[in-house]
Amino acid sequence: MSRKPKILIVEDEEAIRAGLVDVLLYHGYTTDDVDNGNQGLDLALSGKYDLILLDIMLPGLDGFEVCNRIRMQDREQPIIMLTAKSQDEDIIQGLQLGADDYVSKPFSVAQLVLRIQAVLRRSRIGIESDNTIRLSDDHSVDIRNLSGHFAGRDVVFTRREIEILQYLSVNTDRPVSRDELLNKLWGYAKNLDLETRTVDIHIAKIRRKIEAEPTHPRFLVTVRGAGYRLMVE
Ligand code: CA
Repeated sequence: MSRKPKILIVEDEEAIRAGLVDVLLYHGYTTDDVDNGNQGLDLALSGKYDLILLDIMLPGLDGFEVCNRIRMQDREQPIIMLTAKSQDEDIIQGLQLGADDYVSKPFSVAQLVLRIQAVLRRSRIGIESDNTIRLSDDHSVDIRNLSGHFAGRDVVFTRREIEILQYLSVNTDRPVSRDELLNKLWGYAKNLDLETRTVDIHIAKIRRKIEAEPTHPRFLVTVRGAGYRLMVE
């Protein structure tokens, strides 16, 4: 029998926290829960959770700071931010700090479980070892170390950024649409609010790492009306 995935809930609103515990237990997960950012960070850094559900407005360290500090030590820890409805800035900031995904409050149980399953599915797939993504003779990405050397700088990537680059690198013969990236990498069957922006934010982050001039990309180009394409030289 496989182990039940263990989820850490960091949420200060007691009703929401208790509701999350109930829902997750019902769906076969085990949980720990805390009501402040400092404890949340300590537990998150223990490395024993398959996923962290992280509220933004918290006593002590806020969710952004907790996410940021987790990412400084662990680029692969799956994190889903809990954001207030229609707080686009929160969503964007969370994703830029390296959260894998977000769920807007108030959320439906179905939506929450779908996203948890999608993030866990991806993290179990794992990244192929002993592999590089070659963009040119002088530019390649070391998949195992999530790193590369671009425009005179050493850069590190998040797991999600590597997945995007990997997917584009095996489809260099054509542009890949945002919907296709969402479907293949995020595991969404259909387009939902803000999700195409999620892709764009990740693309922008990758460009800042691999492009000498992110506004005039040489490798990761936009094909108008069609999506993104990786240009390998
Ligand atoms: Ca809160």
